[in-house]
Amino acid sequence: MHSGNVSGVDGDIVYIKPSGMDYDLMKPESMVPVSLSTGMVVGSELRPSVDLPHHLFLYRNDPAVRAVVHTHSNYATAFAAQHRSIPLVLTAIADEFGGEIPCTPYIDNEGENIGLGIFKYRTQAPAILLGNHGVFAWGGSVKDALKAAVMVEDVAKTAHLAYQLGEPLRLDPDEALKWWDRYHNRYGQS
Ligand SMILES: [Zn+2]
Repeated sequence: MHSGNVSGVDGDIVYIKPSGMDYDLMKPESMVPVSLSTGMVVGSELRPSVDLPHHLFLYRNDPAVRAVVHTHSNYATAFAAQHRSIPLVLTAIADEFGGEIPCTPYIDNEGENIGLGIFKYRTQAPAILLGNHGVFAWGGSVKDALKAAVMVEDVAKTAHLAYQLGEPLRLDPDEALKWWDRYHNRYGQS
């Protein structure tokens, strides 16, 4: 329906999902432009997502972040319900995230608390689980942030299935960094 949200930044303008609008009713022009510097809506009658402060915090405090996706996707959020990181048990996790996907304790959504919590607990991974809540993923483009969010859910599902068979085996963290480096620097077509 309308849970979760997404934004991307272009210059001083953050384009963010409107509050409480169902996805199947949204058009590109429904995205709400907000000034990154002032936090004010620019030329739209629609109200921005209530999670706007968290998106603004990430953009203002990490210039490498150009897009943010927030979901309550089922498998990843199941880990968040238990305050569990998604463990480093797959090469796909090493490729995309470089190590386990961390999980914060419960954080309320007042002011900058979520942004501060993300910065306190994040690793090099472009995503984090918020305890009892869901997923925040980000990237240097909307496509990268979306991919990170999709990959969190995909590896959370596989990790969940692995737990049904017993305790999954961890990858060595140094080995994971080799996969991360190859995937980020030498993988694909030049
Ligand atoms: Zn949420």
